[in-house]
Amino acid sequence: MLKQIIFISICVLFALVIESGAMKPIIIVHGGAGDISESRIQGKFDGVKVAVRAGYEKLMNGGSALDSVEAAVVSMELDENFNAGYGSVLNLNGEVEMEASIMWGQDLISGAVTLIKEFQHPISIARKVLTDTPHSFLGGNGAKLFALEKGFQQVPPESLISESAKEALNDFLNKGDDQRTEIGRKDEGGVGTVGAVAIDADGHIAVATSTGGINGKMVGRIGDTPLIGGGTYADDNVGGISTTDFFLGHGESILKYCLAHTIIKLMEGGLDADTATRQAVNGMTARLNNTAGAITLSKNGDVGIHFSSKRMAWAYVKNDKVYYGIEHDQTLEEPL
Ligand code: ASP
Repeated sequence: MLKQIIFISICVLFALVIESGAMKPIIIVHGGAGDISESRIQGKFDGVKVAVRAGYEKLMNGGSALDSVEAAVVSMELDENFNAGYGSVLNLNGEVEMEASIMWGQDLISGAVTLIKEFQHPISIARKVLTDTPHSFLGGNGAKLFALEKGFQQVPPESLISESAKEALNDFLNKGDDQRTEIGRKDEGGVGTVGAVAIDADGHIAVATSTGGINGKMVGRIGDTPLIGGGTYADDNVGGISTTDFFLGHGESILKYCLAHTIIKLMEGGLDADTATRQAVNGMTARLNNTAGAITLSKNGDVGIHFSSKRMAWAYVKNDKVYYGIEHDQTLEEPL
């Protein structure tokens, strides 16, 4: 009997050691919530799957969660199917003004940039703010000077403007306020803010979010995406969240509701990732009459995905499979 008890105790101890050991890395991305049209779905699927694989590859090669979320977002900043980097929507002057934020959950450090006009990858500049400055948020000319000092390559602002973004602004200017959506053309659906949440093998959590904002925005408008607690939040003790909103009301609602931080607080209070995400997104929609979407990972790698908009593109990699979807209650999968 004693032998049996000792044997069982050793087994339990062994299981606990394994359990507390290396965390299985995981990454989830989104490509924006909104009234996405049928014609945009394939491009969104392709883009989120490429991005999530880029982020997962970093994790598999020993990269940190920060490396992973940056790589995933960089991939979507190059893709005109998304409203970030190249393909960003335009302000009333016909310019891109991009913003991004990134956060590291080990010690809650963060970096954010806004009003970026001449750089391809706002998320990488935000990461430099996190690693190389005593500050959290740089905007406008200061962000530009900092990026140049750090060796980021300046590009002609026009090189970031897609045909679709130009048409969207023209439609917006011609049709007026009732046509105001993130890309402006209701018939085409949205290009979408992008975001990523990852947990690395050491159990550290990072989150990155990047956007061009909203089509036809006022010059100098700043939305939710670069705001810690609005668009982005990471805390190793709880989890990580990236949010997106798109239709009539835009990031302003996420900003007012501190959506990412609201989800964190609900999880801290004991809710699982999925319930917390659902409750906060629906709560924001009920309170502010606007839609939103969010992706969440708990510190244990549980996934939360919820959107009150018509669609939201998302993908995650777990146990060597890619899961993805864009409709409510849709989960597709394919081998990694
Ligand atoms: N965050 C964007 C904004 O600036 C909207 C979005 O997430 O799609 O309003």
